[in-house]
Amino acid sequence: CGVFGIYGPGMNVAELTYFGIYALQHRGQESAGIAVSDGKNFSLHKNMGLVAEVFNEDILAKLRGHIAIGHVRYSTTGSSLPVNAQPLAFRYLQGMVALAHNGNLVNANQLRQTLASTGSVFQSTTDSEIIVNLIAHYGQNPIEEAIMKCMIDMKGTYSLVVMTENKLLGVRDPYGNRPLCIGQLDDAYVIASESCALDTIGARFLRDVNPGEIVIVDENGLRSIQTMAAPHQALCIFEFIYLARPDSCIDGQNVNAARRALGRQLAREKKVDADIVISVPDSGTAAAMGYAEASGIPFQEGLMKNRYVGRTFIQPTQELRDLGVRLKLNPIRQVLEGKRVILVDDSIVRGTTSKKIVEMLRKAGVKEVHMMVSSAPILYPCYYGIDTSARSELIAAQHDLEEITRYIGADSLHYLSLEGMLEAMEKPAEDFCVACFSGNYPAGIPRFDDRGKYI
Ligand code: 5GP
Ligand code: SF4
Ligand code: MG
Repeated sequence: CGVFGIYGPGMNVAELTYFGIYALQHRGQESAGIAVSDGKNFSLHKNMGLVAEVFNEDILAKLRGHIAIGHVRYSTTGSSLPVNAQPLAFRYLQGMVALAHNGNLVNANQLRQTLASTGSVFQSTTDSEIIVNLIAHYGQNPIEEAIMKCMIDMKGTYSLVVMTENKLLGVRDPYGNRPLCIGQLDDAYVIASESCALDTIGARFLRDVNPGEIVIVDENGLRSIQTMAAPHQALCIFEFIYLARPDSCIDGQNVNAARRALGRQLAREKKVDADIVISVPDSGTAAAMGYAEASGIPFQEGLMKNRYVGRTFIQPTQELRDLGVRLKLNPIRQVLEGKRVILVDDSIVRGTTSKKIVEMLRKAGVKEVHMMVSSAPILYPCYYGIDTSARSELIAAQHDLEEITRYIGADSLHYLSLEGMLEAMEKPAEDFCVACFSGNYPAGIPRFDDRGKYI
Protein backbone atom coordinates (compact mmCIF):
# COMPACT_ATOMS: atom_id res chain seq x y z
CA CYS A 1 0.00 0.00 0.00
CA GLY A 2 0.93 3.65 -0.29
CA VAL A 3 0.20 6.38 2.26
CA PHE A 4 0.37 10.14 2.00
CA GLY A 5 -0.43 13.05 4.34
CA ILE A 6 -0.20 16.84 4.20
CA TYR A 7 -0.62 19.64 6.73
CA GLY A 8 -1.05 22.72 4.57
CA PRO A 9 -3.18 25.67 5.78
CA GLY A 10 -4.21 27.80 2.81
CA MET A 11 -3.44 25.06 0.29
CA ASN A 12 -5.66 22.79 -1.74
CA VAL A 13 -4.70 19.77 0.33
CA ALA A 14 -7.17 17.39 -1.36
CA GLU A 15 -5.69 18.10 -4.78
CA LEU A 16 -2.11 17.77 -3.50
CA THR A 17 -3.03 14.46 -1.88
CA TYR A 18 -4.59 13.31 -5.14
CA PHE A 19 -1.29 13.90 -6.93
CA GLY A 20 0.60 12.37 -4.02
CA ILE A 21 -1.31 9.09 -4.12
CA TYR A 22 -1.24 9.17 -7.92
CA ALA A 23 2.57 9.04 -7.64
CA LEU A 24 2.19 6.07 -5.26
CA GLN A 25 -0.21 4.17 -7.52
CA HIS A 26 2.37 1.42 -8.13
CA ARG A 27 2.05 0.51 -4.42
CA GLY A 28 -1.58 -0.55 -4.78
CA GLN A 29 -4.28 -0.55 -7.43
CA GLU A 30 -7.28 -2.00 -5.63
CA SER A 31 -8.73 1.04 -3.94
CA ALA A 32 -7.92 4.67 -3.29
CA GLY A 33 -9.12 7.21 -0.75
CA ILE A 34 -8.61 10.69 0.66
CA ALA A 35 -9.80 12.14 4.00
CA VAL A 36 -9.66 15.88 4.72
CA SER A 37 -10.05 17.86 7.95
CA ASP A 38 -11.17 21.48 8.04
CA GLY A 39 -10.44 21.78 11.76
CA LYS A 40 -13.96 20.75 12.81
CA ASN A 41 -15.22 18.15 10.39
CA PHE A 42 -13.83 15.43 8.19
CA SER A 43 -14.80 14.70 4.63
CA LEU A 44 -13.85 11.37 3.13
CA HIS A 45 -14.06 9.81 -0.29
CA LYS A 46 -12.81 6.31 -1.15
CA ASN A 47 -13.69 3.56 -3.55
CA MET A 48 -12.40 0.53 -5.42
CA GLY A 49 -10.21 1.31 -8.41
CA LEU A 50 -7.27 3.42 -9.48
CA VAL A 51 -6.74 6.95 -8.18
CA ALA A 52 -7.83 8.43 -11.52
CA GLU A 53 -10.99 6.28 -11.49
CA VAL A 54 -11.98 7.04 -7.90
CA PHE A 55 -11.56 10.84 -8.05
CA ASN A 56 -12.60 13.65 -10.33
CA GLU A 57 -12.58 17.44 -9.97
CA ASP A 58 -16.08 17.61 -8.48
CA ILE A 59 -15.24 15.06 -5.81
CA LEU A 60 -11.96 16.78 -4.95
CA ALA A 61 -13.68 20.19 -4.76
CA LYS A 62 -15.93 18.84 -2.00
CA LEU A 63 -12.96 17.74 0.10
CA ARG A 64 -12.10 21.05 1.74
CA GLY A 65 -9.79 21.68 4.66
CA HIS A 66 -6.18 22.19 5.66
CA ILE A 67 -5.06 18.64 6.51
CA ALA A 68 -5.44 15.56 4.32
CA ILE A 69 -4.35 11.93 4.22
CA GLY A 70 -4.59 9.48 1.34
CA HIS A 71 -4.14 5.81 0.66
CA VAL A 72 -3.78 3.36 -2.21
CA ARG A 73 -4.48 -0.23 -1.32
CA TYR A 74 -2.87 -3.52 -2.30
CA SER A 75 -4.62 -6.32 -0.51
CA THR A 76 -2.66 -8.46 1.89
CA THR A 77 -4.80 -9.23 4.91
CA GLY A 78 -8.45 -8.71 4.18
CA SER A 79 -9.97 -9.34 0.81
CA SER A 80 -10.49 -7.01 -2.09
CA LEU A 81 -13.71 -5.37 -0.86
CA PRO A 82 -15.02 -1.78 -0.69
CA VAL A 83 -15.31 -2.02 3.10
CA ASN A 84 -11.54 -2.56 3.27
CA ALA A 85 -10.71 0.68 1.43
CA GLN A 86 -8.81 3.33 3.40
CA PRO A 87 -8.44 5.88 4.99
CA LEU A 88 -10.58 4.73 7.91
CA ALA A 89 -12.26 7.56 9.80
CA PHE A 90 -13.78 7.28 13.27
CA ARG A 91 -14.62 9.21 16.39
CA TYR A 92 -12.91 8.43 19.67
CA LEU A 93 -13.04 10.07 23.10
CA GLN A 94 -10.81 12.99 22.08
CA GLY A 95 -12.42 13.68 18.71
CA MET A 96 -12.14 12.57 15.12
CA VAL A 97 -9.32 10.41 13.75
CA ALA A 98 -8.54 9.16 10.24
CA LEU A 99 -5.86 6.61 9.51
CA ALA A 100 -4.11 4.96 6.56
CA HIS A 101 -1.82 1.97 6.91
CA ASN A 102 0.94 0.24 4.93
CA GLY A 103 2.21 -2.99 6.42
CA ASN A 104 0.82 -5.98 8.21
CA LEU A 105 0.32 -6.82 11.88
CA VAL A 106 1.30 -10.36 12.80
CA ASN A 107 -0.76 -10.39 16.01
CA ALA A 108 -3.90 -8.99 14.37
CA ASN A 109 -6.09 -11.93 15.35
CA GLN A 110 -5.01 -11.91 18.99
CA LEU A 111 -5.61 -8.16 19.15
CA ARG A 112 -8.99 -8.54 17.46
CA GLN A 113 -10.05 -11.16 20.00
CA THR A 114 -8.90 -9.07 22.94
CA LEU A 115 -10.58 -5.96 21.61
CA ALA A 116 -13.80 -7.79 20.73
CA SER A 117 -14.00 -9.18 24.26
CA THR A 118 -13.98 -5.62 25.61
CA GLY A 119 -16.72 -4.46 23.27
CA SER A 120 -15.04 -3.39 20.03
CA VAL A 121 -16.95 -4.05 16.82
CA PHE A 122 -15.36 -4.73 13.43
CA GLN A 123 -16.76 -3.97 9.97
CA SER A 124 -13.87 -5.12 7.86
CA THR A 125 -11.28 -7.88 7.83
CA THR A 126 -8.23 -5.61 7.75
CA ASP A 127 -5.67 -5.18 10.47
CA SER A 128 -5.94 -1.43 9.91
CA GLU A 129 -9.31 -1.52 11.64
CA ILE A 130 -7.62 -3.17 14.60
CA ILE A 131 -5.29 -0.18 14.88
CA VAL A 132 -8.36 2.08 14.85
CA ASN A 133 -9.97 0.12 17.68
CA LEU A 134 -6.74 0.05 19.59
CA ILE A 135 -6.50 3.85 19.39
CA ALA A 136 -10.10 4.05 20.60
CA HIS A 137 -9.22 1.66 23.41
CA TYR A 138 -6.60 4.16 24.63
CA GLY A 139 -8.99 7.04 24.03
CA GLN A 140 -8.47 8.70 27.43
CA ASN A 141 -5.11 9.85 26.05
CA PRO A 142 -4.18 12.53 23.53
CA ILE A 143 -3.53 11.02 20.11
CA GLU A 144 0.27 10.81 20.29
CA GLU A 145 0.11 9.03 23.66
CA ALA A 146 -2.62 6.69 22.47
CA ILE A 147 -0.43 5.80 19.50
CA MET A 148 2.57 5.19 21.76
CA LYS A 149 0.48 2.73 23.75
CA CYS A 150 -0.73 1.06 20.55
CA MET A 151 2.88 0.63 19.42
CA ILE A 152 3.57 -1.48 22.49
CA ASP A 153 0.67 -3.81 21.58
CA MET A 154 1.13 -3.99 17.82
CA LYS A 155 3.50 -6.64 16.48
CA GLY A 156 4.50 -6.67 12.84
CA THR A 157 4.98 -3.84 10.43
CA TYR A 158 3.33 -0.48 9.85
CA SER A 159 3.91 2.86 8.27
CA LEU A 160 0.93 4.99 9.22
CA VAL A 161 -0.42 8.42 8.47
CA VAL A 162 -2.95 9.62 11.05
CA MET A 163 -5.04 12.77 11.06
CA THR A 164 -7.07 14.43 13.80
CA GLU A 165 -9.08 17.67 13.44
CA ASN A 166 -5.89 19.68 13.85
CA LYS A 167 -2.88 17.35 13.60
CA LEU A 168 -1.10 15.19 11.08
CA LEU A 169 0.99 12.29 12.35
CA GLY A 170 3.36 9.84 10.71
CA VAL A 171 4.33 6.59 12.45
CA ARG A 172 6.92 4.00 11.47
CA ASP A 173 7.17 0.63 13.20
CA PRO A 174 10.20 -0.13 15.42
CA TYR A 175 11.78 -2.17 12.59
CA GLY A 176 11.34 0.53 9.96
CA ASN A 177 10.17 -2.25 7.64
CA ARG A 178 8.05 -0.12 5.31
CA PRO A 179 9.37 3.19 4.00
CA LEU A 180 8.07 6.58 5.17
CA CYS A 181 9.55 10.02 4.60
CA ILE A 182 8.93 13.68 5.38
CA GLY A 183 8.96 16.63 3.00
CA GLN A 184 8.26 20.33 3.02
CA LEU A 185 6.32 22.44 0.55
CA ASP A 186 6.55 26.13 1.49
CA ASP A 187 5.11 26.15 5.02
CA ALA A 188 3.38 22.81 4.59
CA TYR A 189 4.68 19.46 5.79
CA VAL A 190 4.17 16.28 3.83
CA ILE A 191 4.53 12.62 4.88
CA ALA A 192 4.68 9.91 2.21
CA SER A 193 5.54 6.27 1.62
CA GLU A 194 8.07 7.24 -1.03
CA SER A 195 9.97 10.35 -1.99
CA CYS A 196 8.58 10.21 -5.55
CA ALA A 197 5.30 11.51 -4.09
CA LEU A 198 7.13 14.52 -2.64
CA ASP A 199 8.82 15.22 -5.98
CA THR A 200 5.49 15.02 -7.78
CA ILE A 201 3.92 17.83 -5.76
CA GLY A 202 7.11 19.90 -5.71
CA ALA A 203 7.90 19.28 -2.04
CA ARG A 204 11.47 19.16 -0.79
CA PHE A 205 12.65 15.93 0.83
CA LEU A 206 13.55 16.55 4.48
CA ARG A 207 14.35 13.10 5.86
CA ASP A 208 13.07 9.58 6.41
CA VAL A 209 10.95 8.85 9.47
CA ASN A 210 13.07 6.76 11.84
CA PRO A 211 12.14 3.25 12.94
CA GLY A 212 9.90 3.62 16.00
CA GLU A 213 9.39 7.34 15.46
CA ILE A 214 6.16 9.34 15.63
CA VAL A 215 6.24 12.68 13.84
CA ILE A 216 3.56 15.22 14.65
CA VAL A 217 2.67 18.25 12.57
CA ASP A 218 0.32 20.94 13.89
CA GLU A 219 0.07 24.74 14.14
CA ASN A 220 3.38 24.72 16.06
CA GLY A 221 5.26 23.00 13.24
CA LEU A 222 6.93 19.60 13.20
CA ARG A 223 8.01 17.64 16.25
CA SER A 224 8.99 14.09 16.94
CA ILE A 225 8.68 11.40 19.59
CA GLN A 226 11.25 8.63 19.32
CA THR A 227 9.67 5.52 20.85
CA MET A 228 11.39 2.15 21.05
CA ALA A 229 13.32 1.11 17.95
CA ALA A 230 14.54 -2.44 17.30
CA PRO A 231 18.30 -3.03 17.77
CA HIS A 232 18.55 -3.33 13.98
CA GLN A 233 16.32 -1.93 11.30
CA ALA A 234 14.53 -4.55 9.16
CA LEU A 235 13.92 -2.54 6.00
CA CYS A 236 12.16 -4.64 3.35
CA ILE A 237 14.75 -5.46 0.69
CA PHE A 238 11.92 -6.22 -1.73
CA GLU A 239 11.13 -2.49 -1.84
CA PHE A 240 14.43 -2.11 -3.73
CA ILE A 241 14.06 -5.27 -5.79
CA TYR A 242 10.51 -4.75 -6.99
CA LEU A 243 8.00 -2.65 -5.15
CA ALA A 244 9.23 0.94 -4.91
CA ARG A 245 9.48 3.39 -7.80
CA PRO A 246 13.02 3.74 -9.23
CA ASP A 247 13.06 7.54 -8.73
CA SER A 248 12.40 7.17 -4.98
CA CYS A 249 15.09 7.21 -2.31
CA ILE A 250 14.47 5.03 0.73
CA ASP A 251 16.57 5.45 3.86
CA GLY A 252 19.40 7.00 1.88
CA GLN A 253 19.48 4.75 -1.18
CA ASN A 254 18.01 5.49 -4.60
CA VAL A 255 15.90 2.58 -5.83
CA ASN A 256 17.11 2.76 -9.44
CA ALA A 257 20.74 2.75 -8.29
CA ALA A 258 20.01 -0.28 -6.08
CA ARG A 259 18.45 -2.19 -9.00
CA ARG A 260 21.40 -1.40 -11.25
CA ALA A 261 23.77 -2.56 -8.52
CA LEU A 262 21.76 -5.80 -8.22
CA GLY A 263 22.17 -6.31 -11.97
CA ARG A 264 25.91 -5.62 -11.87
CA GLN A 265 26.31 -8.04 -8.98
CA LEU A 266 24.36 -10.66 -10.93
CA ALA A 267 26.73 -10.24 -13.90
CA ARG A 268 29.71 -10.72 -11.60
CA GLU A 269 28.20 -13.89 -10.14
CA LYS A 270 26.64 -15.47 -13.22
CA LYS A 271 28.45 -15.15 -16.53
CA VAL A 272 26.80 -16.51 -19.66
CA ASP A 273 27.85 -16.03 -23.26
CA ALA A 274 25.08 -14.24 -25.19
CA ASP A 275 24.39 -11.62 -27.88
CA ILE A 276 22.02 -9.27 -26.07
CA VAL A 277 20.60 -8.49 -22.64
CA ILE A 278 16.87 -7.76 -22.51
CA SER A 279 14.57 -7.07 -19.58
CA VAL A 280 11.07 -7.82 -18.47
CA PRO A 281 9.83 -4.23 -18.34
CA ASP A 282 9.46 -2.21 -16.25
CA SER A 283 10.55 -3.82 -13.01
CA GLY A 284 13.46 -5.76 -14.56
CA THR A 285 14.89 -2.94 -16.67
CA ALA A 286 17.29 -1.23 -14.26
CA ALA A 287 18.79 -4.60 -13.26
CA ALA A 288 19.16 -5.57 -16.93
CA MET A 289 21.03 -2.33 -17.59
CA GLY A 290 23.31 -3.07 -14.65
CA TYR A 291 23.88 -6.57 -16.00
CA ALA A 292 24.72 -5.18 -19.45
CA GLU A 293 27.06 -2.60 -17.95
CA ALA A 294 29.04 -5.13 -15.92
CA SER A 295 29.06 -7.92 -18.52
CA GLY A 296 29.75 -5.79 -21.59
CA ILE A 297 26.86 -7.48 -23.44
CA PRO A 298 24.66 -4.80 -25.03
CA PHE A 299 21.23 -3.99 -23.59
CA GLN A 300 18.35 -3.93 -26.05
CA GLU A 301 14.62 -3.44 -25.76
CA GLY A 302 13.31 -6.87 -26.67
CA LEU A 303 9.89 -6.77 -25.07
CA MET A 304 7.42 -3.95 -25.48
CA LYS A 305 5.14 -3.13 -22.62
CA ASN A 306 1.65 -1.79 -23.05
CA ARG A 307 1.95 1.26 -20.80
CA TYR A 308 -1.79 1.43 -20.28
CA VAL A 309 -2.08 -1.93 -18.58
CA GLY A 310 0.26 -1.22 -15.68
CA ARG A 311 -0.01 -3.58 -12.77
CA THR A 312 -3.80 -3.45 -12.88
CA PHE A 313 -4.13 -6.73 -14.63
CA ILE A 314 -2.11 -8.63 -12.07
CA GLN A 315 -5.27 -9.67 -10.31
CA PRO A 316 -5.72 -12.15 -7.49
CA THR A 317 -6.83 -15.11 -9.62
CA GLN A 318 -4.55 -17.32 -11.72
CA GLU A 319 -6.73 -17.00 -14.85
CA LEU A 320 -6.48 -13.22 -14.84
CA ARG A 321 -2.79 -13.37 -14.07
CA ASP A 322 -2.18 -15.62 -17.12
CA LEU A 323 -4.12 -13.26 -19.35
CA GLY A 324 -2.35 -10.29 -17.79
CA VAL A 325 1.04 -11.27 -19.15
CA ARG A 326 -0.18 -11.43 -22.74
CA LEU A 327 -2.01 -8.13 -22.51
CA LYS A 328 1.00 -6.51 -21.04
CA LEU A 329 4.01 -7.60 -23.11
CA ASN A 330 4.81 -8.18 -26.75
CA PRO A 331 8.21 -9.26 -28.15
CA ILE A 332 10.08 -7.24 -30.79
CA ARG A 333 10.93 -9.95 -33.32
CA GLN A 334 13.41 -7.77 -35.23
CA VAL A 335 15.56 -7.49 -32.10
CA LEU A 336 15.28 -11.10 -31.01
CA GLU A 337 15.36 -13.35 -34.07
CA GLY A 338 18.36 -15.70 -34.13
CA LYS A 339 19.86 -14.20 -30.96
CA ARG A 340 21.21 -15.72 -27.78
CA VAL A 341 19.35 -13.70 -25.19
CA ILE A 342 19.92 -12.96 -21.52
CA LEU A 343 16.50 -12.21 -20.05
CA VAL A 344 16.60 -10.27 -16.78
CA ASP A 345 13.70 -10.00 -14.36
CA ASP A 346 13.64 -8.77 -10.77
CA SER A 347 12.02 -11.84 -9.22
CA ILE A 348 10.27 -15.13 -9.78
CA VAL A 349 7.29 -15.67 -7.53
CA ARG A 350 5.03 -18.32 -9.02
CA GLY A 351 7.00 -18.67 -12.24
CA THR A 352 4.02 -18.06 -14.51
CA THR A 353 5.30 -14.72 -15.86
CA SER A 354 8.69 -16.16 -16.78
CA LYS A 355 7.15 -19.23 -18.42
CA LYS A 356 4.90 -17.08 -20.63
CA ILE A 357 7.73 -14.74 -21.55
CA VAL A 358 10.16 -17.51 -22.48
CA GLU A 359 7.43 -19.05 -24.65
CA MET A 360 6.88 -15.66 -26.28
CA LEU A 361 10.60 -15.22 -26.95
CA ARG A 362 10.87 -18.67 -28.55
CA LYS A 363 7.95 -17.87 -30.84
CA ALA A 364 9.76 -14.67 -31.78
CA GLY A 365 12.70 -16.77 -32.96
CA VAL A 366 15.36 -16.46 -30.23
CA LYS A 367 18.15 -19.04 -30.41
CA GLU A 368 18.78 -19.34 -26.65
CA VAL A 369 17.16 -17.84 -23.55
CA HIS A 370 19.18 -17.51 -20.37
CA MET A 371 17.03 -16.22 -17.56
CA MET A 372 18.74 -14.06 -14.92
CA VAL A 373 16.90 -13.07 -11.76
CA SER A 374 18.16 -10.07 -9.80
CA SER A 375 17.02 -11.53 -6.46
CA ALA A 376 17.49 -14.83 -4.65
CA PRO A 377 14.88 -17.62 -4.82
CA ILE A 378 11.75 -16.63 -2.86
CA LEU A 379 11.33 -19.54 -0.47
CA TYR A 380 9.07 -18.18 2.27
CA PRO A 381 5.91 -16.08 2.45
CA CYS A 382 5.97 -12.44 3.50
CA TYR A 383 3.93 -11.61 6.60
CA TYR A 384 4.81 -7.91 6.45
CA GLY A 385 2.65 -6.50 3.70
CA ILE A 386 3.79 -7.93 0.37
CA ASP A 387 1.63 -10.57 -1.22
CA THR A 388 4.30 -13.06 -2.29
CA SER A 389 1.84 -15.93 -1.71
CA ALA A 390 1.71 -19.02 0.41
CA ARG A 391 4.66 -21.43 0.35
CA SER A 392 2.64 -23.85 -1.75
CA GLU A 393 2.49 -21.25 -4.56
CA LEU A 394 6.14 -20.21 -4.44
CA ILE A 395 7.84 -22.14 -7.21
CA ALA A 396 11.29 -22.01 -5.61
CA ALA A 397 9.90 -23.41 -2.36
CA GLN A 398 8.51 -26.42 -4.20
CA HIS A 399 11.08 -27.16 -6.91
CA ASP A 400 14.83 -27.20 -7.43
CA LEU A 401 16.71 -25.09 -9.97
CA GLU A 402 16.64 -27.76 -12.65
CA GLU A 403 12.89 -28.26 -12.33
CA ILE A 404 12.19 -24.54 -12.43
CA THR A 405 14.42 -24.13 -15.50
CA ARG A 406 12.46 -26.88 -17.22
CA TYR A 407 9.11 -25.41 -16.13
CA ILE A 408 9.85 -21.95 -17.47
CA GLY A 409 11.42 -23.46 -20.58
CA ALA A 410 14.73 -21.55 -20.48
CA ASP A 411 18.10 -22.89 -21.61
CA SER A 412 19.51 -21.86 -18.26
CA LEU A 413 18.30 -20.07 -15.14
CA HIS A 414 20.37 -18.13 -12.61
CA TYR A 415 19.40 -16.37 -9.43
CA LEU A 416 21.42 -13.72 -7.63
CA SER A 417 22.69 -15.04 -4.29
CA LEU A 418 21.29 -13.66 -1.04
CA GLU A 419 24.80 -12.48 -0.10
CA GLY A 420 25.09 -10.77 -3.48
CA MET A 421 21.74 -9.02 -2.95
CA LEU A 422 22.86 -7.62 0.37
CA GLU A 423 26.23 -6.68 -1.10
CA ALA A 424 24.47 -4.49 -3.67
CA MET A 425 22.73 -2.47 -0.94
CA GLU A 426 24.25 0.61 0.65
CA LYS A 427 22.97 -0.06 4.15
CA PRO A 428 24.62 -2.84 6.16
CA ALA A 429 23.16 -6.32 5.71
CA GLU A 430 21.82 -6.47 9.29
CA ASP A 431 19.49 -3.51 8.58
CA PHE A 432 17.38 -5.46 6.06
CA CYS A 433 14.50 -7.88 6.25
CA VAL A 434 15.23 -10.76 3.87
CA ALA A 435 12.70 -13.15 5.40
CA CYS A 436 11.12 -14.26 2.11
CA PHE A 437 14.58 -15.49 1.05
CA SER A 438 15.95 -16.73 4.39
CA GLY A 439 12.93 -17.65 6.51
CA ASN A 440 14.32 -15.51 9.31
CA TYR A 441 11.49 -13.14 10.31
CA PRO A 442 12.79 -10.14 12.27
CA ALA A 443 9.36 -8.81 13.32
CA GLY A 444 7.82 -12.17 14.28
CA ILE A 445 5.25 -14.31 12.47
CA PRO A 446 1.53 -14.89 12.98
CA ARG A 447 0.47 -17.86 15.09
CA PHE A 448 -1.12 -20.79 13.29
CA ASP A 449 -3.40 -23.53 14.54
CA ASP A 450 -2.59 -27.17 13.74
CA ARG A 451 -4.59 -26.95 10.52
CA GLY A 452 -2.40 -24.10 9.27
CA LYS A 453 -4.99 -21.36 9.82
CA TYR A 454 -3.99 -18.05 11.36
CA ILE A 455 -5.12 -17.70 14.96
P1 5GP B 1 5.54 -14.78 -11.25
O1 5GP B 1 4.88 -15.00 -12.54
O2 5GP B 1 6.84 -15.48 -11.10
O3 5GP B 1 4.59 -15.09 -10.14
O4 5GP B 1 5.79 -13.22 -11.09
C1 5GP B 1 7.03 -12.61 -11.25
C2 5GP B 1 6.81 -11.23 -11.78
O5 5GP B 1 5.88 -10.53 -10.95
C3 5GP B 1 8.07 -10.39 -11.82
O6 5GP B 1 8.15 -9.77 -13.08
C4 5GP B 1 7.90 -9.35 -10.75
O7 5GP B 1 8.30 -8.07 -11.22
C5 5GP B 1 6.44 -9.35 -10.42
N1 5GP B 1 6.18 -9.37 -8.98
C6 5GP B 1 7.03 -9.66 -7.99
N2 5GP B 1 6.43 -9.55 -6.79
C7 5GP B 1 5.18 -9.15 -7.01
C8 5GP B 1 4.08 -8.84 -6.15
O8 5GP B 1 4.16 -8.89 -4.93
N3 5GP B 1 2.94 -8.44 -6.76
C9 5GP B 1 2.83 -8.33 -8.11
N4 5GP B 1 1.70 -7.91 -8.62
N5 5GP B 1 3.84 -8.63 -8.94
C10 5GP B 1 5.01 -9.03 -8.41
FE1 SF4 C 1 10.12 -7.60 2.32
FE2 SF4 C 1 10.47 -10.22 1.97
FE3 SF4 C 1 10.74 -9.11 4.41
FE4 SF4 C 1 8.33 -9.28 3.23
S1 SF4 C 1 9.60 -11.00 3.90
S2 SF4 C 1 9.18 -7.54 4.33
S3 SF4 C 1 8.85 -8.97 1.08
S4 SF4 C 1 12.01 -8.76 2.60
MG1 MG D 1 7.98 -7.48 -13.29
